[in-house]
Amino acid sequence: AKQSAHQADKLSIAGQMAAGIAHEIRNPLTALKGFLQLLSAGNENGSKYYDIMKDELTRIELILNELLALAKPQEMNMTRHDLSELIQDIVVLLQAQATLHNVEIHFHPTKESVQIRCDGNKIKQLFINLIKNAIEAMPEGGTVWIEQVQCDEWVKVSIRDNGVGIPQELLQKIGQPFFTQKETGTGLGLSICYQIAEYHNANIEVASEVGEGTTFTVSFPIAL
Ligand code: ADP
Ligand code: MG
Repeated sequence: AKQSAHQADKLSIAGQMAAGIAHEIRNPLTALKGFLQLLSAGNENGSKYYDIMKDELTRIELILNELLALAKPQEMNMTRHDLSELIQDIVVLLQAQATLHNVEIHFHPTKESVQIRCDGNKIKQLFINLIKNAIEAMPEGGTVWIEQVQCDEWVKVSIRDNGVGIPQELLQKIGQPFFTQKETGTGLGLSICYQIAEYHNANIEVASEVGEGTTFTVSFPIAL
């Protein structure tokens, strides 16, 4: 009986995913269809519609790319990495985007280098998703503080923003596929983060206060 319950669980999760995907793709498709109808009717706003249609297609592309990133099995290339170096690379990568949004990124590494066993690109993806969310949570600009601390056999990286925060009742939905509060969000970024963390035996914790900001903390086992 236990097994069949488990099986039913799996099916409903697949069903939920399918419903989510269908819903997310249908919206831009409906928009595309509408604009095509307007164009074929010879509407004079044609060039404007092409731009919107391109945006909608780009959105479908983004959703599908993120879904592919979630699809298993994932190929992992596990090697030793200096965690601070990975984070430093990401800070440099996101600098332009941060400046554009009036956001400063501060990074404090541990004094001594700490290594973790990981797929470097996947860990970069995890931090990109978290830091992008932090930037997006501060529409008027602000600061992202990244801090790396060592704690026994764990190394913890916290990413703190002074943005809009997450209401208590929504905290449990964080990381559910397609949960988003953004107009153009996919709600897949954090799902990808949680999946990558799971592959690395890492934990993600979130603390948030509406109007104060949010802190995501990722804890990795230190490589022996
Ligand atoms: P997306 O960014 O496409 O919305 P995510 O999975 O990355 O999808 O995030 C899901 C939701 O979690 C966001 O829409 C937002 O409501 C909330 N969230 C995530 N990070 C933060 C943050 N740093 N501050 C406030 N809200 C956040
Ligand atoms: Mg996101």
